[in-house]
Amino acid sequence: MPVLVMKFGGTSVATLDRIRRAAKRVGVEVAKGYDVIVIVSAMSGETNKLVGYVEETSPLFDAREYDAVVSSGENVTAGLMALTLQEMDVPARSWQGWQVPVKTTNAHANARIEEIPTDNITAKFDEGMKVAVVAGFQGISEEGRITTLGRGGSDTTAVAFAAAFGAERCDIYTDVDGVYTTDPRICEKARKLDRIAFEEMLELASLGAKVLQTRSVELAMRYKVKLRVLSSFEEQSDEAGTLVCDEEDIMESNVVAGVAHSRDEAKMTLVSVADRPGIASAIFTPLADAGVNVDMIVQNISDEGRTDMTFSCPTNQVARAEQAMEAAKEAGDINFHSIIADESVCKVSVVGIGMRSQSGVAAKMFRVLANEGINIKVITTSEIKISVLVERKYMELAVQALHDAFDLDKVA
Ligand code: ADP
Ligand code: ASP
Ligand code: MG
Repeated sequence: MPVLVMKFGGTSVATLDRIRRAAKRVGVEVAKGYDVIVIVSAMSGETNKLVGYVEETSPLFDAREYDAVVSSGENVTAGLMALTLQEMDVPARSWQGWQVPVKTTNAHANARIEEIPTDNITAKFDEGMKVAVVAGFQGISEEGRITTLGRGGSDTTAVAFAAAFGAERCDIYTDVDGVYTTDPRICEKARKLDRIAFEEMLELASLGAKVLQTRSVELAMRYKVKLRVLSSFEEQSDEAGTLVCDEEDIMESNVVAGVAHSRDEAKMTLVSVADRPGIASAIFTPLADAGVNVDMIVQNISDEGRTDMTFSCPTNQVARAEQAMEAAKEAGDINFHSIIADESVCKVSVVGIGMRSQSGVAAKMFRVLANEGINIKVITTSEIKISVLVERKYMELAVQALHDAFDLDKVA
């Protein structure tokens, strides 16, 4: 039997009624002759609630226990989805990550899938089971502990299962009807794309467009998974949604494909560190060891052997970063005058493969922001993206102004 993977995000399983609707959609595919692997997220809001419990209990928590707690939301929806399917006379059972088992690295709270053996589930399909409902977002480490794959990780579970089982397609059902030129919730002119290139989707995802987890796009690209994003709230046709595909399979090509934003960024500056060989390593090694995801890095011009080092990281890692820096100072590995944490910034980025061959995109981006009176605090670029840190209160304005300026509401 051909295999299909269908992933339902938090809003698509938010209530028993929504689970029933999702199950009906699964039933339609089963009737077409597919063996279906359903990946479910926790009910919407549930993971946030669990993360809140952990942070309140232990601000600098043990990530192994964080995983034990936050993985539980998916167990509930997996069981409920299997029960709902059974009530509809569709043979189904649920699987938690460890039962499959979804084998991952030990990097708690941010683990990577290493292997998904297919024999257990395949044996059940052979016995007549039609749907395997798998709890997304979770796995098991070599040490036998429950792990989670980072926020939004059920997308990655879905793509990894599609790759492991050679699925015909991986459909990601969510609360928007596809991938847009920017987040439709903050820019009403955002336009749905019929197709988007893997490279562009990868950048958009890593720069904050949470419609797909970055790692899921990476896996789909590597294993050539046919990946589609569509709405669980609307009736579907076979062409619905957005197909994430190779660059060659796309006709339209704006220089800029999309605008992404990431709200909860912090800009940290170590004031007056010694400018000597090895200083960057002495700063960023302990930050990495503390699990701080450093993004942008800027070092100022040195003045009398001292310099300022600025970096950005998610706001909820500021305390960890400060602790790691104070500890390194205590140990005599680095020396600085003070740490300034600016927790009121956000990151706005423009992404497009067309930038490889067209110059002037950065200049235009900076001009647009200047015209809106928005000050740029940090800039980074790569071949197909430009990112800036700006004050968070300007986030919506910056996204909308850039969307307009690059004509993203119009088909190229
Ligand atoms: P799920 O719970 O189904 O995984 P998410 O909330 O993780 O859903 O992702 C869907 C959300 O992603 C949308 O509601 C939308 O606000 C947001 N989003 C951000 N950028 C984009 C984009 N470029 N296209 C579509 N949605 C986007
Ligand atoms: N429930 C998890 C989260 O909210 C995983 C997911 O939904 O993809 O991050
Ligand atoms: Mg998601």
